[in-house]
Amino acid sequence: MLKVVKFGGSSLASANQFKKVKEIITADDARRYVIDSAPGKRFPGDIKVTDMLYECYTLAYDGDDFSKELADIKARYKEIIDGLGLSTDLTEEFATIEKNFKDKAGNDYAASRGEYLNGLIMADYLGYTFIDPAKYVFFDEEGNFLADETNKNLADALKDVDRAVIPGFYGSVKTTGKVKTFSRGGSDITGSVVARAVCADLYENWTDVSGVLTADPRIVDNPVPIEAITYRELRELSYMGASVLHEDAIFPVRKAGIPINIKNTNAPEDPGTLICETTVKTTKHIITGVAGKKGFCSINIEKDMMNSEIGFCRRILQAFEDNGISIEHMPSGIDTLTVFVHQTEFEEKEQSVLNEIIKLTSPDSIDLESNLALIAVVGRGMKSQRGTAGKVFSALTDHNINIRMIDQGSSELNIIVGVADEDFEQAIKAIYDSFVDRGVGDF
Ligand code: ASP
Repeated sequence: MLKVVKFGGSSLASANQFKKVKEIITADDARRYVIDSAPGKRFPGDIKVTDMLYECYTLAYDGDDFSKELADIKARYKEIIDGLGLSTDLTEEFATIEKNFKDKAGNDYAASRGEYLNGLIMADYLGYTFIDPAKYVFFDEEGNFLADETNKNLADALKDVDRAVIPGFYGSVKTTGKVKTFSRGGSDITGSVVARAVCADLYENWTDVSGVLTADPRIVDNPVPIEAITYRELRELSYMGASVLHEDAIFPVRKAGIPINIKNTNAPEDPGTLICETTVKTTKHIITGVAGKKGFCSINIEKDMMNSEIGFCRRILQAFEDNGISIEHMPSGIDTLTVFVHQTEFEEKEQSVLNEIIKLTSPDSIDLESNLALIAVVGRGMKSQRGTAGKVFSALTDHNINIRMIDQGSSELNIIVGVADEDFEQAIKAIYDSFVDRGVGDF
């Protein structure tokens, strides 16, 4: 058994968190490759080291004095080193960083130092080999991640290294050697890439919640964690705003058939959420999760005999494509077709799109609705269960919420409903409550 373990910023924000992490790692001999994030927030309102680095570098870039900001960053690491009773000396590292900041080494270089320095401390603390991803994780000059090449590099580099700490979030441009980061939250991707390279059996992603939650905790009180979720379900929920894992972290492990286990550093005994390709595990709530987003608008197009007019849909879509607008959903009736788009994106091009639709399709009417929210009720269990849609609709009706749109994907993996923005939170709560029994045993 071989596990790659990634720890997020809140898991590595202080010496105390480092101690928990070491306990977790040493409790299981299979946890051989460790990916670290930069120190995150220690308390609400605290600043992540990555953000401190960006700010510090901006000053350096503008030629302003950045000594105080750099001293604050040093203090964050010193607190960890001292708290762990280590003798890790970062003096030279910081001198190099200061020099490189003055030489304008780049925003990505600056941000990457958060993971780099934390990795040095972690390697020291665990007695693991430190591997600098700048030597193995490659990007091309346009910033595209070179997945296959990186996979080969890492596989070669790690084959004779029994245990290693590999900082997350960055690599370098292959041709220039310049440090390059993934987008924010990118340590998740490094974890996934390393898991694939070493053919891990499991990728554990340690964070500060006990797994993916059934609903947004800012809307629903104490939503239950999801025990197991498939990649496709996760994609549906993430698309609708549930943030768990960097989206690009799925692909490398999915390709290699490696499941991901989301775990809580502050409650390691909790099972967390298993993310996998497929599972026979069923959820006792039928639905796996509910998530949604506000800020959509709909364009409702009506034309008599639309159904028999060949090329009608294509021409409608053409109007959006020509204006560079991506379409979110497109439910249709016999003589009506509705297109959902992001309102802010649409607003700018509104008249141009409408004009083109009229020119291309001569509809009988077009009518617009704004400030809509879309909610996805997701669950692999829906297929085998009668009445799921009915339950969603009754929940909304019981709360006097008007449903503006219904769309059920052919996969029967989700039901999407559109409601007014102002009904969004209530709708999520109503749907959640109708599926998740808040009786004893759930919490
Ligand atoms: N430290 C980086 C960030 O804050 C990357 C990560 O934590 O995954 O985005």
